[in-house]
Amino acid sequence: MKVVIIGAVAAGLSAAYSIKKNVSGAEITVLEKGEDISYGACGFPYYIEGLIEEEKKLIARDKKRVLADGIDLRLFSEAIDVDFQNKSVKVRNLSNKNEYELKYDKLVIAVGARSNHLDIFTGMKGVFPLNTLKHANAIKEYMEKRAPERAIILGGGNKGLELLETMTLRAVDTQVIEYMPDVMNIYDPELSELLLKELRGEGHKINTSEKALDAVADEKGFISKVITDKGEYSTDMVIETIGLKPNTEFLEGKGLKMERGAILTDLYGRTNIEDVYAGGDCAMIYNHIEEKHNYLPLGTNANKTGKLIGLAMAGKEPPFKGVQASSMMKTFEFEMAMTGVTDQRAKFLGLDYDSVLVRTRNKSGYYPGGTELYIKLTYLKKNGKIIGAQIFGREGSALRIQGLVTAVYAGLDLYDLAYMDFGYIPPLNSVWDSINVAARKALSKYEREKE
Ligand SMILES: Cc1cc2nc3c(=O)[nH]c(=O)nc-3n(C[C@H](O)[C@H](O)[C@H](O)COP(=O)(O)OP(=O)(O)OC[C@H]3O[C@@H](n4cnc5c(N)ncnc54)[C@H](O)[C@@H]3O)c2cc1C
Repeated sequence: MKVVIIGAVAAGLSAAYSIKKNVSGAEITVLEKGEDISYGACGFPYYIEGLIEEEKKLIARDKKRVLADGIDLRLFSEAIDVDFQNKSVKVRNLSNKNEYELKYDKLVIAVGARSNHLDIFTGMKGVFPLNTLKHANAIKEYMEKRAPERAIILGGGNKGLELLETMTLRAVDTQVIEYMPDVMNIYDPELSELLLKELRGEGHKINTSEKALDAVADEKGFISKVITDKGEYSTDMVIETIGLKPNTEFLEGKGLKMERGAILTDLYGRTNIEDVYAGGDCAMIYNHIEEKHNYLPLGTNANKTGKLIGLAMAGKEPPFKGVQASSMMKTFEFEMAMTGVTDQRAKFLGLDYDSVLVRTRNKSGYYPGGTELYIKLTYLKKNGKIIGAQIFGREGSALRIQGLVTAVYAGLDLYDLAYMDFGYIPPLNSVWDSINVAARKALSKYEREKE
């Protein structure tokens, strides 16, 4: 069986290795338009910072290894068209511009996504997206050669705030500009505001509800100023982290079901076209709490879907309900994490929900060095079933979401969590773990409302 995979990073290579392991006799060809493969993009902020010194540490498998494993990996090979009827991909060799057709029995689309870009910066030097290893290296090189003193990060989401830390640690005076009223706006405003207050309190420059309108370059073409609806900022560089756009334009108009450019799949990566699979940042993924597909471009989802595609191709369907929008973020000493639905999402979905936000501590009261830990639980009013959780705090806070991920996944309710037997040791938590505390508070509210 001939399998063609388009894209050789998280989803593409996870699929390749899963197919190799599970589908006997599969002949796998992977097309990659760039030269870098199998890298951990999640590590870029730490690589730019210098904490991760060598590029190779970010790479799970290099080209030599993939070829040695019997996978026909073709770099600088861009899929420019697909004929789903004749089961063939048109490939352009970017090294010599030759074009050729490649037949497949099964096709996996794992082409990822790229950053949205504001036209105001087009053609200016010193303005960067951050999606690929090339981008990360371009930022590093620019910083080494030009030693920028000031930077503007557009967008106050996960990536933007991680980069705020990166740039600050590299002694660059950094300004974040966010269009929405909150940073980290996938969280409920109370949580985002806690983070914003702390970051501003530490002197970090973060402007919200502000829109970049224009940009000015110096005589050599380097960015020198960003003009917004509220002011003007001199700068030596800009990083745009303002959302993603799936790289699926070449697939449009061919009957492949997509939502705003992201391919619709079933739980195992199958698209609406027979023998065509998709996963990672170019695809939607099923959220079992919302009972609908979401666009959740995360490394967790890309790797998982790649693995599931290989299993599905072998006729195996391990029990998998879908994802539940779990994610984490860390900037400086602050951590956030979430799973399931927030209040704002529950409202949007028309759910009859309630919630509590509790402030606890990350160590026993008497243990030195403890800090505040906030947990918000969202639950259904009719039965107390927990449908979402959000966390904000300092070191060790975000990982506490994993227990809540399990609770939401399993459909546990407030009674389950209020007395759940969590482990305890004073340097890490309290005899009533913060999750018990949050659930007990929610339970009191829930029982009061039931009376
Ligand atoms: C800075 C940063 C930090 C992140 N941090 C986290 C994190 O902490 N946690 C988390 O879960 N996720 C994180 N992510 C997200 C995660 O890295 C991505 O979800 C994941 O890399 C997506 O993998 P993918 O294989 O779907 O796509 P990509 O990594 O985008 O790979 C797609 C590949 O397809 C190639 N391609 C595209 N079009 C074609 C074509 N027509 N022909 C041939 N090849 C093509 C591209 O060149 C690319 O190499 C982060 C991402 C970034 C950039």
